[in-house]
Amino acid sequence: MPDKSTSSDAPAPAATETPQATSAARKIYPIVKFGDPILEKPGAAIKKFDAELEQLAEDMFASMYAAQGVGLAAPQIGLSLRIAVVDVTGGKNPEARIVLANPEIVHAEGEVREEEGCLSIPGFRGYVLRPQFVTIKAQNAKGETFEIRGENLLARAFCHEIDHLNGILFLQHLSMLKRDLIKRKIKKLRKQGEW
Ligand SMILES: [Zn+2]
Repeated sequence: MPDKSTSSDAPAPAATETPQATSAARKIYPIVKFGDPILEKPGAAIKKFDAELEQLAEDMFASMYAAQGVGLAAPQIGLSLRIAVVDVTGGKNPEARIVLANPEIVHAEGEVREEEGCLSIPGFRGYVLRPQFVTIKAQNAKGETFEIRGENLLARAFCHEIDHLNGILFLQHLSMLKRDLIKRKIKKLRKQGEW
């Protein structure tokens, strides 16, 4: 059930229109899938905030919208860096676009158990316990530090993306039984050349 209220960077609800790209043609990165070791290693801190990084963030938004996700972390496009983008409106509200460079959780509160998916693990979902509210500290693409509080889906997206930057996938939050089942199915898909 890939609807926005329960997904993280999983497919957003069917968009009625394609979100408008901000300016010039953006690079659409292919999404790295489960099995690639880059997804399971921590990314390097962002140290250089320049035009190149701003461009990367824009390309990440474009790639995320193209994949109909609500969050995308750099390791998912093959870059082991601590940067992610989030937009839980799926491109409908430009003000909802959030760039998270070097993000960290400073406060978490409450618990919500909801179904979650991941663009890197297409077709599979699972219930994950996440905080209901989280406050995170991060830098934007210009290097300016900010704090932002998220609730429910936004809190979930922040946690899911920060996990990615630490090499953690939502599968690791599932029971071993459920995790092994998904891994077995993926293995089978890979053998059939469908992954
Ligand atoms: Zn993900």
